[in-house]
Amino acid sequence: MPRRKPKTPPMCSCGKRPARKGHGWWRECKECTAAREARRNALEATRHTDQCNAAKVLAGVPLRYKDARLTDFKGIDSITVDLCTGFRLFGKPRTGKTHFLAGMAHAAIELRHSCRFWNVPELLDTLRCEVQENTAAVFEQACTVQILLLDDMTACRMTDYATERLYLIVNHRYNCLQHTSVTGNDWNKVDPRLAGRIAETTTEVSL
Ligand SMILES: [Zn+2]
Repeated sequence: MPRRKPKTPPMCSCGKRPARKGHGWWRECKECTAAREARRNALEATRHTDQCNAAKVLAGVPLRYKDARLTDFKGIDSITVDLCTGFRLFGKPRTGKTHFLAGMAHAAIELRHSCRFWNVPELLDTLRCEVQENTAAVFEQACTVQILLLDDMTACRMTDYATERLYLIVNHRYNCLQHTSVTGNDWNKVDPRLAGRIAETTTEVSL
């Protein structure tokens, strides 16, 4: 016996409208498809937010700057994250340099780049501990992370050790065309060789 075509189109599983999609037990009307896609997008957005929040914690941005955004700065809010070229901000304290760097971290993380923010005296302290413990995880991360943000570079005494460590990191990143952004108060305190590398791989920003 030949199969007869049903005169009315099959109904959506919601039972309210005819199905536009699917067959068998799974059928969807236009509205149900839109609702399902909206649910999926919301879930993905939540997942992305969760991942970003976790990445922000791991990136080491100080809690004080957890809401910092590049758009907080009028006039330079067109600045975007570049994977190769960083920024250098040197000058008087309390002008928002750390805020800028934190905004850069958040922008990078939202673009799904790996990112690490370091207060330089703290970084040097951690590197010193690493040498004693015979590990190099922090040093390696500083060399390889996609976006490295070095805050307050001239806040500590630039000893030979400090200069050498920073030079190794900055030079490695220079050779690998990686983004390093740096802030500090006194550009003249930076060792000339290190300053040369920084100058070549960064764009100057004044706030
Ligand atoms: Zn439906």
